[in-house]
Amino acid sequence: MAKFYIVATPIGNMGDITLRAIETLKSVDLILCEDTRETKKILDKYNINKPTMSYPSDDYSRAGHAKKIDKIFELLEQGKNLALVSDAGTPGISDPGAMLINKIKTHFSHGVDVIPIPGPSAVIAALSASGLPTHEFTFLGFLPHKKGRETLFKEIAESERTMVFYESPHRILKTLESLVKFCPTKKVCIARELTKIYEELKTGSPAEVLEYLNKNPEKQRGEFTVIVT
Ligand code: SAM
Repeated sequence: MAKFYIVATPIGNMGDITLRAIETLKSVDLILCEDTRETKKILDKYNINKPTMSYPSDDYSRAGHAKKIDKIFELLEQGKNLALVSDAGTPGISDPGAMLINKIKTHFSHGVDVIPIPGPSAVIAALSASGLPTHEFTFLGFLPHKKGRETLFKEIAESERTMVFYESPHRILKTLESLVKFCPTKKVCIARELTKIYEELKTGSPAEVLEYLNKNPEKQRGEFTVIVT
């Protein structure tokens, strides 16, 4: 039976890859990547010489994308083993891999084994080092930019669960301003650049964290995971 491996890769520090991930990437017939240039860095580091192909990230009705899906299905039908990786972290968690995994599971109700090879994920890394309650949490992925955004902040304000979401550096100040507006008494932790040189977890009230970022503009850069409780 063909195997389709979902392989987690580092979210920054190249050392954060499991032995099983390396073995798996070395064993498959083809590695499907969000961006082949990004994945090449990790393949080179671990001397993994396998063919790669980018996978469609969005509109599956586009001709080029449909062709790639057909190719992936064909390889699996031939019994080839494939690995899916994203640019960073666990494929399928708030990244385009989710759509492809869904397509494969829908197309092959049997005949393909979908196997997770777990490892880093920004959401789990952030929660684990936050010191905030994690026995229950809600992961929101990326917040919507416009429609539904205000409703979501109101939901965050009312929730008794820890809420966690991904945020871009372009929107981090806006998001903190919304947290100041909708849930001023909550605690927020921004986990920035996890596993990288400028890794930092900053916790405080929304107003305190906003003030901190405003005073230190260099800390507005990088990748953010935000936890609110
Ligand atoms: N699938 C990935 C995972 O499992 O972590 C997440 C992919 S999502 C497209 C990328 C977002 O994750 C970034 O925009 C950022 O919000 C968050 N992220 C990724 N790497 C991070 C890091 N090193 N530190 C903090 N947040 C990170």
